[in-house]
Amino acid sequence: MTTQEAALALFAELTDSAPAGIWSAPGRVNLIGEHTDYNDGFVLPFAIPHRTYAAVGIREDLRIRVASTFAEEPVEVALDELNALFPTASGAEPAVPEWAAYPLGVAWALQLAGATGTGVDIAIASDVPVGAGLSSSAAIEGAAAGALNDLWKAGLDRRALARIGRRAENEAVGAPTGIMDQMASMLGERDRALFLDCRTLETDLVTLGMADAGLEILVMDTQVKHAHATGGYGERRASCERGAALMGTTSLRDVSIDDLARAEEVMDDVTFRRVRHIVTENQRVLDTVRVLGESGARAIGDLLVASHESMRDDFEISTPELDLAVETALAASAIGARMTGGGFGGAAIALVEHSAVERVSSAVTAAFAASGFTAPHIFSVAPAAGAHRDA
Ligand code: ADP
Ligand code: MG
Repeated sequence: MTTQEAALALFAELTDSAPAGIWSAPGRVNLIGEHTDYNDGFVLPFAIPHRTYAAVGIREDLRIRVASTFAEEPVEVALDELNALFPTASGAEPAVPEWAAYPLGVAWALQLAGATGTGVDIAIASDVPVGAGLSSSAAIEGAAAGALNDLWKAGLDRRALARIGRRAENEAVGAPTGIMDQMASMLGERDRALFLDCRTLETDLVTLGMADAGLEILVMDTQVKHAHATGGYGERRASCERGAALMGTTSLRDVSIDDLARAEEVMDDVTFRRVRHIVTENQRVLDTVRVLGESGARAIGDLLVASHESMRDDFEISTPELDLAVETALAASAIGARMTGGGFGGAAIALVEHSAVERVSSAVTAAFAASGFTAPHIFSVAPAAGAHRDA
């Protein structure tokens, strides 16, 4: 059964009828540009073939019911109750099961944007690995946002829907994330990465030419789940804000490589290293876009590796599993490799020759076994299409 069929089957189980349509949105891999999004900086993600599907039907009443193959029970509320549920107070658990706050939060954010409509039943199925740094969260938001935008005839464009998804994640779920994931899921295209300036929201699709060059991107999911809403992620954001303030600005986007010498003088070592990661990572994103255009994907390996080292040593968000995946992939002939996503778990990526996929995968699997780590989940991702209606 395909994932789309699983969404249909769940919808049938829920309602005994056929849906009005099916909408889907992909997860994403961030090629380079980590933790730069909330610093008004640059990112370069691409949408992956793994998608979340929402089969959605219109109800006779003004209630919204969400179900997911991921959850035991559907959750149902009245549309006019959403305003009492959200926004979730900072740091508090949502008043509904957390997973349901994603699609219900999307409905809430759409209502705040002026969209209204009938009640709906939403059945969700996904093959995006959850909590792996591949943004299953943006995928579920994107699928729900696409469906409700169409069924409620809200007429919002994809960028606006990305902002709806972000608002749901920030204010209904309570996870303080940037806009990158939703933009990649909404605007991604086959064989292209999405260059995004997180300050202006200007975008540019950058051709990767992976298949033509005989290259693949392997995802090495360490199976160590990260948690966004708590802990290190928020702490890193606070460090970045502190660093920007000490440099007399509101955002590290305004700090350049030439300013780093002064930064080192005016802040403590930890804050300085956090700042240095962001500032150099922004430059690496710009360099990656330039190198892709000039020389193609085979030439970006060193930039990927430098990005990983910066996250490991300066931003300190890597883990022993992620470091092992990166080091082993490189030793087994990967052209470049880095952890991807927010860190503290999740996945690393490796850029590899098509002919070396087997070799790199088995080397990483063997290294994990030898270290007593949980077996990694390794798969190839071709840059894929963004959110759309499927049926
Ligand atoms: P990531 O985006 O890296 O996968 P997040 O912590 O941002 O990790 O989002 C994962 C959360 O999103 C899950 O814990 C769950 O609450 C929600 N979620 C993702 N996919 C689904 C799904 N198919 N059904 C229900 N909830 C989902
Ligand atoms: Mg997420």
